[in-house]
Amino acid sequence: MNGTKDYYKLLGVDKKASEKEIKDAYRKLARKYHPDANPGDKGSEEKFKEISEAYEVLSNAEKRKQYDSGGMFSGAGGPGPGFYPGGVGGARPGSRSYSYSGDIGDLGDLGDIFNLFSGMGTGAGAGRRREARKGRDLQTDVTVSFEEALSGVTIPLTVTGKTVCPTCKGSGARPGTLPKTCPTCGGRGSVSQNQGPFAFSRPCPNCGGRGTVIEEPCETCRGAGAVEMPRNIKVKIPAGINDGGKVRFPGKGEAAPLGGTPGDLYVNVHVKPHKYFKRKDSGILLDLPITFPEAAMGTTVEIPTLNGKVKLKVPAGTADGRKFRLRGKGAPKPRGKGHGDMIVTARIVVPKKMTAKEKELVKKLKELEKEDPRAFLGE
Ligand SMILES: [Zn+2]
Ligand SMILES: [Zn+2]
Repeated sequence: MNGTKDYYKLLGVDKKASEKEIKDAYRKLARKYHPDANPGDKGSEEKFKEISEAYEVLSNAEKRKQYDSGGMFSGAGGPGPGFYPGGVGGARPGSRSYSYSGDIGDLGDLGDIFNLFSGMGTGAGAGRRREARKGRDLQTDVTVSFEEALSGVTIPLTVTGKTVCPTCKGSGARPGTLPKTCPTCGGRGSVSQNQGPFAFSRPCPNCGGRGTVIEEPCETCRGAGAVEMPRNIKVKIPAGINDGGKVRFPGKGEAAPLGGTPGDLYVNVHVKPHKYFKRKDSGILLDLPITFPEAAMGTTVEIPTLNGKVKLKVPAGTADGRKFRLRGKGAPKPRGKGHGDMIVTARIVVPKKMTAKEKELVKKLKELEKEDPRAFLGE
Protein backbone atom coordinates (compact mmCIF):
# COMPACT_ATOMS: atom_id res chain seq x y z
CA MET A 1 0.00 0.00 0.00
CA ASN A 2 1.33 3.31 -1.07
CA GLY A 3 0.29 5.45 1.82
CA THR A 4 2.90 8.15 1.77
CA LYS A 5 2.75 9.66 -1.68
CA ASP A 6 4.11 13.16 -1.33
CA TYR A 7 2.40 15.33 -3.90
CA TYR A 8 4.61 18.28 -3.13
CA LYS A 9 7.73 16.25 -3.66
CA LEU A 10 6.32 14.83 -6.89
CA LEU A 11 5.89 18.33 -8.26
CA GLY A 12 9.13 19.49 -6.67
CA VAL A 13 7.51 22.36 -4.80
CA ASP A 14 7.46 23.59 -1.25
CA LYS A 15 4.54 22.86 1.05
CA LYS A 16 3.85 26.57 1.07
CA ALA A 17 3.95 26.88 -2.72
CA SER A 18 1.45 29.27 -4.25
CA GLU A 19 -1.15 28.20 -6.78
CA LYS A 20 0.97 29.71 -9.50
CA GLU A 21 4.11 27.92 -8.39
CA ILE A 22 2.25 24.61 -8.40
CA LYS A 23 0.86 25.29 -11.83
CA ASP A 24 4.24 26.29 -13.22
CA ALA A 25 5.91 23.24 -11.71
CA TYR A 26 3.28 20.96 -13.14
CA ARG A 27 3.55 22.54 -16.60
CA LYS A 28 7.27 22.13 -16.63
CA LEU A 29 7.08 18.48 -15.60
CA ALA A 30 4.08 17.68 -17.80
CA ARG A 31 5.92 19.02 -20.82
CA LYS A 32 8.80 16.73 -20.02
CA TYR A 33 6.79 13.56 -19.31
CA HIS A 34 3.82 13.96 -21.60
CA PRO A 35 3.19 10.67 -23.45
CA ASP A 36 3.16 12.49 -26.79
CA ALA A 37 6.70 13.62 -26.12
CA ASN A 38 7.77 10.13 -25.04
CA PRO A 39 5.88 7.69 -27.24
CA GLY A 40 5.87 4.18 -25.86
CA ASP A 41 7.85 5.06 -22.76
CA LYS A 42 5.97 3.45 -19.88
CA GLY A 43 8.13 5.12 -17.28
CA SER A 44 7.29 8.56 -18.55
CA GLU A 45 3.63 7.71 -18.83
CA GLU A 46 3.64 6.53 -15.23
CA LYS A 47 5.42 9.65 -14.11
CA PHE A 48 3.00 11.79 -16.05
CA LYS A 49 0.08 10.15 -14.31
CA GLU A 50 1.69 10.69 -10.94
CA ILE A 51 2.39 14.35 -11.40
CA SER A 52 -1.05 14.86 -12.88
CA GLU A 53 -2.58 13.20 -9.89
CA ALA A 54 -0.55 15.44 -7.61
CA TYR A 55 -1.58 18.50 -9.57
CA GLU A 56 -5.19 17.41 -9.57
CA VAL A 57 -5.21 17.56 -5.79
CA LEU A 58 -2.89 20.47 -5.12
CA SER A 59 -4.47 22.74 -7.71
CA ASN A 60 -7.80 22.47 -5.95
CA ALA A 61 -7.90 24.54 -2.78
CA GLU A 62 -10.40 22.32 -1.05
CA LYS A 63 -8.61 19.07 -1.85
CA ARG A 64 -5.25 20.55 -1.03
CA LYS A 65 -6.54 21.54 2.39
CA GLN A 66 -7.80 18.03 3.01
CA TYR A 67 -4.57 16.56 1.77
CA ASP A 68 -2.51 18.88 3.97
CA SER A 69 -4.50 17.92 7.01
CA GLY A 70 -3.69 14.31 6.24
CA GLY A 71 -7.39 13.77 5.95
CA MET A 72 -9.59 12.12 3.47
CA PHE A 73 -11.44 13.11 0.41
CA SER A 74 -15.11 12.46 0.43
CA GLY A 75 -17.28 12.76 -2.62
CA ALA A 76 -16.47 16.39 -3.17
CA GLY A 77 -18.28 16.86 -6.45
CA GLY A 78 -16.54 16.97 -9.78
CA PRO A 79 -12.84 16.73 -10.43
CA GLY A 80 -10.69 19.79 -10.38
CA PRO A 81 -11.73 22.60 -12.67
CA GLY A 82 -8.39 22.58 -14.40
CA PHE A 83 -9.17 19.21 -15.85
CA TYR A 84 -12.70 19.62 -16.95
CA PRO A 85 -12.92 22.83 -18.88
CA GLY A 86 -16.51 23.63 -19.66
CA GLY A 87 -19.51 21.42 -19.65
CA VAL A 88 -19.36 20.38 -16.04
CA GLY A 89 -22.59 20.40 -14.18
CA GLY A 90 -26.19 19.64 -14.86
CA ALA A 91 -27.76 16.23 -14.63
CA ARG A 92 -26.01 14.11 -17.15
CA PRO A 93 -26.63 10.42 -17.42
CA GLY A 94 -23.54 8.36 -17.25
CA SER A 95 -21.56 11.23 -15.89
CA ARG A 96 -18.47 10.19 -14.07
CA SER A 97 -18.77 10.78 -10.42
CA TYR A 98 -15.79 11.52 -8.29
CA SER A 99 -15.63 10.25 -4.82
CA TYR A 100 -12.77 9.35 -2.69
CA SER A 101 -12.52 8.11 0.80
CA GLY A 102 -9.81 6.34 2.65
CA ASP A 103 -6.11 6.77 2.75
CA ILE A 104 -4.64 9.27 0.39
CA GLY A 105 -2.21 6.74 -1.00
CA ASP A 106 -4.89 4.38 -2.19
CA LEU A 107 -5.32 5.14 -5.85
CA GLY A 108 -8.15 2.74 -6.47
CA ASP A 109 -10.87 5.32 -6.46
CA LEU A 110 -9.01 7.91 -8.40
CA GLY A 111 -9.96 6.11 -11.57
CA ASP A 112 -11.31 9.28 -13.10
CA ILE A 113 -7.88 10.71 -13.33
CA PHE A 114 -6.53 7.60 -14.92
CA ASN A 115 -9.41 7.43 -17.31
CA LEU A 116 -8.64 10.95 -18.26
CA PHE A 117 -5.07 10.18 -19.08
CA SER A 118 -5.55 6.73 -20.48
CA GLY A 119 -7.94 8.29 -22.95
CA MET A 120 -5.15 10.32 -24.43
CA GLY A 121 -4.45 8.25 -27.45
CA THR A 122 -2.88 5.11 -26.03
CA GLY A 123 -4.70 2.23 -27.61
CA ALA A 124 -5.20 0.29 -24.42
CA GLY A 125 -6.78 3.19 -22.65
CA ALA A 126 -9.15 3.84 -25.48
CA GLY A 127 -10.09 0.19 -25.46
CA ARG A 128 -10.86 0.17 -21.78
CA ARG A 129 -13.16 3.08 -22.22
CA ARG A 130 -15.14 1.39 -24.94
CA GLU A 131 -15.36 -1.84 -22.96
CA ALA A 132 -16.86 0.04 -20.07
CA ARG A 133 -19.95 0.58 -22.22
CA LYS A 134 -20.53 -3.10 -22.84
CA GLY A 135 -23.24 -4.74 -20.79
CA ARG A 136 -22.29 -7.38 -18.25
CA ASP A 137 -22.08 -11.01 -19.26
CA LEU A 138 -24.58 -13.30 -17.56
CA GLN A 139 -24.44 -16.98 -16.70
CA THR A 140 -27.14 -19.52 -16.10
CA ASP A 141 -27.57 -23.29 -15.84
CA VAL A 142 -29.99 -25.59 -17.63
CA THR A 143 -30.61 -29.32 -17.37
CA VAL A 144 -31.69 -31.32 -20.40
CA SER A 145 -32.51 -34.99 -20.96
CA PHE A 146 -30.07 -37.32 -22.66
CA GLU A 147 -32.27 -37.34 -25.76
CA GLU A 148 -32.60 -33.53 -25.83
CA ALA A 149 -28.84 -33.22 -25.70
CA LEU A 150 -28.63 -35.41 -28.77
CA SER A 151 -31.41 -33.80 -30.79
CA GLY A 152 -30.95 -30.21 -29.62
CA VAL A 153 -33.69 -28.33 -27.82
CA THR A 154 -35.05 -24.82 -27.44
CA ILE A 155 -35.47 -23.83 -23.80
CA PRO A 156 -37.39 -20.89 -22.35
CA LEU A 157 -35.36 -19.06 -19.72
CA THR A 158 -35.95 -16.21 -17.35
CA VAL A 159 -32.84 -14.06 -17.18
CA THR A 160 -32.41 -11.50 -14.44
CA GLY A 161 -30.25 -8.42 -14.79
CA LYS A 162 -30.30 -5.12 -16.58
CA THR A 163 -32.47 -5.07 -19.64
CA VAL A 164 -33.31 -2.42 -22.21
CA CYS A 165 -35.81 -0.01 -20.65
CA PRO A 166 -39.26 -0.85 -22.06
CA THR A 167 -40.48 2.74 -21.71
CA CYS A 168 -37.81 4.56 -23.70
CA LYS A 169 -36.53 1.52 -25.65
CA GLY A 170 -33.07 2.24 -24.30
CA SER A 171 -32.72 5.85 -25.41
CA GLY A 172 -32.95 7.16 -21.84
CA ALA A 173 -35.11 10.04 -23.05
CA ARG A 174 -38.73 10.56 -22.02
CA PRO A 175 -40.98 9.11 -24.74
CA GLY A 176 -41.76 11.82 -27.26
CA THR A 177 -38.45 13.55 -26.67
CA LEU A 178 -35.10 12.81 -28.21
CA PRO A 179 -31.57 12.99 -26.89
CA LYS A 180 -30.01 16.28 -27.99
CA THR A 181 -26.67 16.87 -29.59
CA CYS A 182 -24.15 17.50 -26.83
CA PRO A 183 -23.40 21.23 -26.69
CA THR A 184 -19.94 20.67 -25.26
CA CYS A 185 -18.51 18.53 -28.01
CA GLY A 186 -21.01 19.34 -30.75
CA GLY A 187 -21.83 15.64 -31.09
CA ARG A 188 -18.28 14.51 -31.73
CA GLY A 189 -18.01 12.74 -28.40
CA SER A 190 -14.53 14.06 -27.78
CA VAL A 191 -13.09 17.39 -26.84
CA SER A 192 -9.63 18.80 -27.23
CA GLN A 193 -8.02 20.06 -24.14
CA ASN A 194 -5.20 22.49 -23.85
CA GLN A 195 -2.72 21.97 -21.11
CA GLY A 196 -0.17 24.69 -21.51
CA PRO A 197 1.70 24.19 -24.73
CA PHE A 198 0.05 20.94 -25.78
CA ALA A 199 -3.40 19.82 -26.72
CA PHE A 200 -4.96 16.43 -26.83
CA SER A 201 -8.42 15.05 -27.27
CA ARG A 202 -10.30 12.98 -24.77
CA PRO A 203 -13.85 11.69 -24.33
CA CYS A 204 -16.28 14.52 -23.83
CA PRO A 205 -16.93 14.91 -20.09
CA ASN A 206 -20.42 16.25 -20.64
CA CYS A 207 -21.83 13.34 -22.63
CA GLY A 208 -19.33 10.64 -21.69
CA GLY A 209 -18.32 10.26 -25.33
CA ARG A 210 -21.77 9.51 -26.73
CA GLY A 211 -22.19 12.86 -28.48
CA THR A 212 -25.72 13.30 -27.15
CA VAL A 213 -27.26 14.42 -23.89
CA ILE A 214 -30.69 13.78 -22.46
CA GLU A 215 -32.63 16.83 -21.37
CA GLU A 216 -35.80 15.06 -20.29
CA PRO A 217 -34.89 11.70 -18.81
CA CYS A 218 -37.23 8.73 -19.06
CA GLU A 219 -39.02 8.27 -15.75
CA THR A 220 -38.76 4.49 -15.73
CA CYS A 221 -34.99 4.26 -16.02
CA ARG A 222 -34.15 7.84 -14.98
CA GLY A 223 -32.21 8.29 -18.18
CA ALA A 224 -30.07 5.19 -17.89
CA GLY A 225 -31.71 3.40 -20.81
CA ALA A 226 -31.68 0.13 -18.88
CA VAL A 227 -33.56 -1.23 -15.90
CA GLU A 228 -33.16 -4.23 -13.63
CA MET A 229 -35.96 -6.65 -14.44
CA PRO A 230 -36.47 -10.29 -15.40
CA ARG A 231 -36.60 -11.06 -19.07
CA ASN A 232 -38.00 -14.14 -20.76
CA ILE A 233 -35.95 -15.48 -23.61
CA LYS A 234 -35.54 -18.71 -25.52
CA VAL A 235 -32.19 -20.31 -26.09
CA LYS A 236 -31.41 -23.02 -28.59
CA ILE A 237 -29.18 -25.72 -27.14
CA PRO A 238 -27.32 -27.27 -30.08
CA ALA A 239 -27.65 -30.98 -30.91
CA GLY A 240 -24.79 -33.05 -29.57
CA ILE A 241 -24.05 -30.97 -26.48
CA ASN A 242 -22.19 -32.83 -23.76
CA ASP A 243 -22.78 -32.75 -20.04
CA GLY A 244 -20.85 -29.75 -18.71
CA GLY A 245 -20.95 -28.01 -22.09
CA LYS A 246 -21.19 -24.24 -22.21
CA VAL A 247 -23.09 -22.32 -24.88
CA ARG A 248 -22.50 -18.63 -25.54
CA PHE A 249 -25.34 -16.44 -26.73
CA PRO A 250 -23.84 -13.15 -27.89
CA GLY A 251 -25.84 -10.09 -26.94
CA LYS A 252 -28.19 -11.94 -24.59
CA GLY A 253 -26.49 -10.68 -21.45
CA GLU A 254 -27.18 -7.45 -19.63
CA ALA A 255 -28.14 -4.38 -21.60
CA ALA A 256 -25.50 -1.69 -21.73
CA PRO A 257 -26.36 1.85 -20.72
CA LEU A 258 -27.61 4.02 -23.55
CA GLY A 259 -27.08 2.04 -26.67
CA GLY A 260 -23.83 0.27 -25.82
CA THR A 261 -23.27 -3.35 -26.80
CA PRO A 262 -25.18 -5.81 -24.63
CA GLY A 263 -23.18 -8.47 -22.81
CA ASP A 264 -23.27 -12.17 -23.61
CA LEU A 265 -25.18 -14.97 -21.95
CA TYR A 266 -23.36 -18.17 -21.07
CA VAL A 267 -25.52 -21.24 -20.51
CA ASN A 268 -23.98 -24.16 -18.65
CA VAL A 269 -25.67 -27.35 -19.83
CA HIS A 270 -26.15 -30.35 -17.58
CA VAL A 271 -27.28 -33.59 -19.22
CA LYS A 272 -29.33 -36.10 -17.22
CA PRO A 273 -27.98 -39.64 -17.32
CA HIS A 274 -29.73 -42.20 -19.53
CA LYS A 275 -31.07 -45.53 -18.36
CA TYR A 276 -28.55 -47.48 -20.41
CA PHE A 277 -26.69 -45.22 -22.81
CA LYS A 278 -23.57 -43.30 -21.90
CA ARG A 279 -21.78 -40.56 -23.80
CA LYS A 280 -18.16 -40.04 -24.63
CA ASP A 281 -17.76 -36.97 -26.86
CA SER A 282 -19.74 -37.85 -29.98
CA GLY A 283 -19.74 -41.57 -29.13
CA ILE A 284 -22.68 -43.31 -27.54
CA LEU A 285 -21.72 -46.27 -25.38
CA LEU A 286 -23.84 -49.31 -24.60
CA ASP A 287 -23.07 -52.34 -22.47
CA LEU A 288 -24.76 -55.37 -24.06
CA PRO A 289 -25.44 -58.27 -21.70
CA ILE A 290 -25.16 -61.70 -23.40
CA THR A 291 -25.29 -65.19 -21.94
CA PHE A 292 -22.44 -67.67 -22.10
CA PRO A 293 -24.23 -69.89 -24.67
CA GLU A 294 -24.85 -66.77 -26.83
CA ALA A 295 -21.21 -65.76 -26.56
CA ALA A 296 -20.01 -69.24 -27.31
CA MET A 297 -22.42 -70.09 -30.13
CA GLY A 298 -22.96 -66.61 -31.55
CA THR A 299 -26.27 -64.81 -31.87
CA THR A 300 -28.01 -61.82 -33.43
CA VAL A 301 -29.49 -59.19 -31.10
CA GLU A 302 -31.53 -56.04 -31.58
CA ILE A 303 -29.87 -52.84 -30.47
CA PRO A 304 -31.78 -49.61 -29.80
CA THR A 305 -30.27 -46.56 -31.50
CA LEU A 306 -31.28 -42.93 -31.95
CA ASN A 307 -33.05 -43.77 -35.18
CA GLY A 308 -34.70 -47.07 -34.47
CA LYS A 309 -33.45 -50.55 -33.79
CA VAL A 310 -30.64 -52.24 -35.66
CA LYS A 311 -29.54 -55.87 -35.71
CA LEU A 312 -26.11 -56.70 -34.36
CA LYS A 313 -24.45 -60.04 -35.13
CA VAL A 314 -22.48 -61.34 -32.16
CA PRO A 315 -20.12 -63.95 -33.62
CA ALA A 316 -19.44 -67.33 -32.03
CA GLY A 317 -16.59 -67.21 -29.52
CA THR A 318 -17.18 -63.61 -28.42
CA ALA A 319 -15.22 -62.81 -25.28
CA ASP A 320 -16.44 -60.55 -22.49
CA GLY A 321 -15.52 -56.94 -23.21
CA ARG A 322 -15.45 -57.29 -27.00
CA LYS A 323 -16.46 -54.05 -28.67
CA PHE A 324 -18.64 -53.56 -31.72
CA ARG A 325 -18.72 -50.29 -33.58
CA LEU A 326 -21.95 -49.10 -35.19
CA ARG A 327 -20.77 -46.36 -37.54
CA GLY A 328 -22.73 -43.12 -37.58
CA LYS A 329 -25.06 -44.23 -34.78
CA GLY A 330 -23.50 -41.93 -32.21
CA ALA A 331 -24.22 -38.36 -31.20
CA PRO A 332 -24.14 -35.41 -33.62
CA LYS A 333 -20.70 -33.88 -33.89
CA PRO A 334 -20.31 -30.15 -33.34
CA ARG A 335 -20.85 -27.79 -36.30
CA GLY A 336 -22.75 -30.31 -38.39
CA LYS A 337 -19.84 -32.63 -39.03
CA GLY A 338 -21.95 -35.78 -39.12
CA HIS A 339 -22.42 -38.26 -36.31
CA GLY A 340 -20.10 -40.22 -34.09
CA ASP A 341 -20.33 -43.98 -33.61
CA MET A 342 -22.10 -46.20 -31.15
CA ILE A 343 -19.79 -48.54 -29.29
CA VAL A 344 -21.43 -51.73 -28.04
CA THR A 345 -19.48 -53.73 -25.45
CA ALA A 346 -20.37 -57.38 -24.92
CA ARG A 347 -20.85 -58.25 -21.24
CA ILE A 348 -21.17 -61.95 -20.46
CA VAL A 349 -23.62 -62.45 -17.65
CA VAL A 350 -23.43 -65.38 -15.28
CA PRO A 351 -26.72 -66.71 -13.88
CA LYS A 352 -27.05 -66.14 -10.14
CA LYS A 353 -29.45 -69.02 -9.69
CA MET A 354 -29.64 -72.22 -11.71
CA THR A 355 -32.19 -75.00 -11.84
CA ALA A 356 -31.13 -78.59 -11.19
CA LYS A 357 -31.39 -79.28 -14.91
CA GLU A 358 -29.12 -76.33 -15.75
CA LYS A 359 -26.59 -77.36 -13.13
CA GLU A 360 -26.47 -80.85 -14.58
CA LEU A 361 -25.85 -79.53 -18.11
CA VAL A 362 -23.14 -77.10 -16.99
CA LYS A 363 -21.46 -79.89 -15.03
CA LYS A 364 -21.47 -82.01 -18.16
CA LEU A 365 -20.01 -79.12 -20.13
CA LYS A 366 -17.23 -78.72 -17.57
CA GLU A 367 -16.30 -82.39 -17.91
CA LEU A 368 -16.19 -82.08 -21.70
CA GLU A 369 -14.08 -78.92 -21.80
CA LYS A 370 -10.73 -79.46 -23.52
CA GLU A 371 -9.31 -75.98 -23.17
CA ASP A 372 -7.75 -75.01 -19.87
CA PRO A 373 -8.01 -71.19 -19.63
CA ARG A 374 -5.30 -71.14 -16.94
CA ALA A 375 -2.78 -73.31 -18.77
CA PHE A 376 -0.44 -70.31 -19.25
CA LEU A 377 -0.09 -69.90 -15.48
CA GLY A 378 1.72 -73.24 -15.29
CA GLU A 379 4.18 -72.46 -18.09
ZN1 LIG B 1 -36.21 4.46 -19.97
ZN1 LIG C 1 -20.25 15.72 -25.55
